[in-house]
Amino acid sequence: MKSDSGQTTSVWMGTTDVPEFLPLDRDLRANVCVIGAGIAGMTTAYLLARAGRAVVVIDDGPVGGGETSRTTAHLTAALDDRYYAIEKMHGRDGARIAAESHTAAIAQIESIASTEDIHCDFERVDGYLFLGGDSKRKELENELAATQRAGLDTELVERAPLDFWDTGVALRFPRQATFHPLKYLKGLARGILRDGGKIYTGVHAKNIEDGEPAKITTSAGHVITANNIVVCTNTPVNDWVIIHNKQAAYRSYVIGARVPLGSIPHGLYWDTPDPYHYVRLHKPDGADHEILVVGGE
Ligand SMILES: Cc1cc2nc3c(=O)[nH]c(=O)nc-3n(C[C@H](O)[C@H](O)[C@H](O)COP(=O)(O)OP(=O)(O)OC[C@H]3O[C@@H](n4cnc5c(N)ncnc54)[C@H](O)[C@@H]3O)c2cc1C
Repeated sequence: MKSDSGQTTSVWMGTTDVPEFLPLDRDLRANVCVIGAGIAGMTTAYLLARAGRAVVVIDDGPVGGGETSRTTAHLTAALDDRYYAIEKMHGRDGARIAAESHTAAIAQIESIASTEDIHCDFERVDGYLFLGGDSKRKELENELAATQRAGLDTELVERAPLDFWDTGVALRFPRQATFHPLKYLKGLARGILRDGGKIYTGVHAKNIEDGEPAKITTSAGHVITANNIVVCTNTPVNDWVIIHNKQAAYRSYVIGARVPLGSIPHGLYWDTPDPYHYVRLHKPDGADHEILVVGGE
């Protein structure tokens, strides 16, 4: 597929096509209008359509053309901001909510993929966090204690299960997952349409007005009236203060390298420096090799 978020082709874009949709050619009325057709918007729309709401999804690019086409798709409750840091900021209950919500999100994807028969290469794998740079064992010990207080079933192991390289001590997160995000979005799109939802692409939400009903005016001048609007544009486009003044711009580079089939155990691998490296595998359909997806520099 083509994305409108950059020039390069991610592994996901190179291994599936996402259905194309038409732009809006008239005004519309809906129960709910979802702005943004990345994983957040498509999941929201899918669940609302399942619950019987009349849902319209709009995106100014193609479905999945934003960050979702460029993710490395580690589905994990291991968090970049360590649990011991989250505990300090939000208390033990906050850390527990973070662990439970991430664990539930993985289960939700697994359940939707299974119910909808979405062939999105969903696979349960273990995740391993190991030391890099100047990091000390104490960091993993602190994270072990904090993740366990948050309810995760983590453990310290002597090394990640890689024969060719000794990572040293690692924190194991069992039953995490990997999947193909664009194959998954394709399945969500099918479910949304089946349940009466509508998807329009090439539609830019220019103006969003709160109210009963709420209103979206598109760049082409069409008006969508809805009882509720869900803004799933990654960074919000309806409020330029609350989130924006807490955000900083980061760029992370990812490459996909061919490796012989079965040469590296499937798993999620992360080290501790900032920025950190993140690694997983993907096997394209019918290929005689796998792709090692490595990010972080
Ligand atoms: C290199 C990299 C690696 C990553 N790895 C991981 C990982 O391993 N695990 C993980 O959990 N996360 C990872 N992430 C983060 C993850 O990819 C994102 O958090 C997620 O894809 C965001 O999804 P989204 O639906 O919120 O946003 P997006 O996928 O960006 O979707 C937002 C959509 O909104 C549309 N839009 C924006 N403004 C408007 C408007 N005004 N009108 C209409 N449409 C609009 C855009 O076109 C876009 O399609 C990674 C990100 C990157 C870049």
